[in-house]
Amino acid sequence: MITGQNYLGNKRSSKGEKTYKTFNPRLGITNEWTFYEATQEELEEAARLAQNAFISYRNISPARRAGFLRVIADEIEALGNTLIETYSKETALPEGRAKGERGRTVGQLRSFANALEDGSWVEASIDTAIPDRSPIPKPDLRKMLIPIGPVAVFGSSNFPLAYSTAGGDTASALAAGCPVIVKSHPMHAATGELVASAIISAAKKTDMPNGVFSNLNSSGIEVGQALVKHPGITAVGFTGSIKGGTALYKLANERAEPIPVFAEMGSVNPVLIFPSALSENGAYWANQYASSIMLGAGQFCTNPGLIFGVKGKSLDNFKTTLGKDIAALDPSCMLHPTIYDNYEKGKKEAVAQEGITQLNSPSSENPSYFAQQLVLSVSGKDFSQNPKLHQEVFGPFSIVVECESPEEIQDIIKELEGQLTGTVLGDSNELKTYSEVIDAMAQRVGRIIYNGVPTGVEVCPSMVHGGPFPASSDSRFTAVGTNAIKRWVRPFSYQNWPNEQLPDALKNENPLNILRFVNGSYTDSKI
Ligand code: NAP
Repeated sequence: MITGQNYLGNKRSSKGEKTYKTFNPRLGITNEWTFYEATQEELEEAARLAQNAFISYRNISPARRAGFLRVIADEIEALGNTLIETYSKETALPEGRAKGERGRTVGQLRSFANALEDGSWVEASIDTAIPDRSPIPKPDLRKMLIPIGPVAVFGSSNFPLAYSTAGGDTASALAAGCPVIVKSHPMHAATGELVASAIISAAKKTDMPNGVFSNLNSSGIEVGQALVKHPGITAVGFTGSIKGGTALYKLANERAEPIPVFAEMGSVNPVLIFPSALSENGAYWANQYASSIMLGAGQFCTNPGLIFGVKGKSLDNFKTTLGKDIAALDPSCMLHPTIYDNYEKGKKEAVAQEGITQLNSPSSENPSYFAQQLVLSVSGKDFSQNPKLHQEVFGPFSIVVECESPEEIQDIIKELEGQLTGTVLGDSNELKTYSEVIDAMAQRVGRIIYNGVPTGVEVCPSMVHGGPFPASSDSRFTAVGTNAIKRWVRPFSYQNWPNEQLPDALKNENPLNILRFVNGSYTDSKI
């Protein structure tokens, strides 16, 4: 049942007087539920519970934590159609997408459970003592990763399940041994509450400490900001806009004790289309990119927002086909009136820039919040001189940048801001011929794709979903895949500690049977 209340650990609470509702963009109506904005007192209580929970939760065995994550996944599935219907009412995203995202969310939870059961993720490293070393004896040193403390999580509007309440940030932080306080996204507060209820039910069933998870409602920025400033919070996970992410990053750094903010933000995901791809497969790629730009009404952080090619007949054909193919696709409803308004504003501003040509004409018939797709083209010179065109327009929008030469592409790529992905379309000889352009792009992105589209993010250990600023606030980490757990831990060393008092991961007997780095070699043997 959706109550509109906050979860302060296992207890529901609604002390606030400020209330708000979510919106059904497809029907253009306000949804039935009323949400109670969390008060400062409620936030304090959630933080107190999280700090208390951390004392025991950090010492709960990896096997029990894995069990907790698996039960969360089961409880989310047990929400059944209520979750799917609520998701659709708050986002206008179709049922298939809702189900796919739910599958990804439970899959993520289970993959972190598997990583915990495998156990090697703690990066245990052991250097045994050499008591008779001269001139001074060498101590016994044993290092592993330990949880950092309570984490605040901000979900994004465009992934109500996979990047929100029980999304990648929450799953990885709980796996690491950190309690989580979610600042619920106001556009899908009911979906958030249902998922929060699944987490709380799992916490009770698996006997996790009260406060291991809380969910705070908020329709403005105050609750989130107070959370980031709270001394009980030790790290922040954020998925959303560059504006929001950088504001929270700044706030976290101004604290008496600064804390890390792992913000995954916007990206325009450049694509390089080389001559062979244009001449041999231009129509195919135009078709693929029309679909990729339109996917999820363009509301993906990996949406291909910039396509670079060298000017000529083949690029002209590509532009014409892309314009035609994208015009033939049906627009979809956007997540929310504010996202729709921002998209319209961004499009208008882009079209008004110097040297812009429209490759398709958006229809003037526009049912409510349906995003009319738009693809533009511009010369490399006009693009490089105009930072406005480098910015993300969140929606089904892209710009083809027509350059004079590969060297011009390279110069522009070097000036681009950090990106989540970069894509190369061409044959394998061109990977050599244009290696310098590709290398310049690799320096600006977190993941490079060959002959494909950037939309679609596989969840697996080798995935990097992050990139140089502002794609993410710390390019050394990924927000997707099991390595996302590394954001919520810190390395910790024991010196000359008695074997029986060490954590299992560092004991001589290696009771967890994990891979460890012992005296310079990887081994799972006992010492
Ligand atoms: P958003 O407007 O930044 O909101 C994200 C969350 O942060 C919301 O809960 C919002 O609260 C809060 N927030 C925003 N500004 C804040 C501030 N100054 N202080 C405190 N809290 C603040 O982003 P969104 O519209 O939900 O998501 C769309 C954006 O996310 C796009 O730019 C997209 O590219 C990006 N995105 C990135 C990734 C990635 O992995 N890199 C994935 C998905 C989406 P309120 O709503 O209450 O203000």
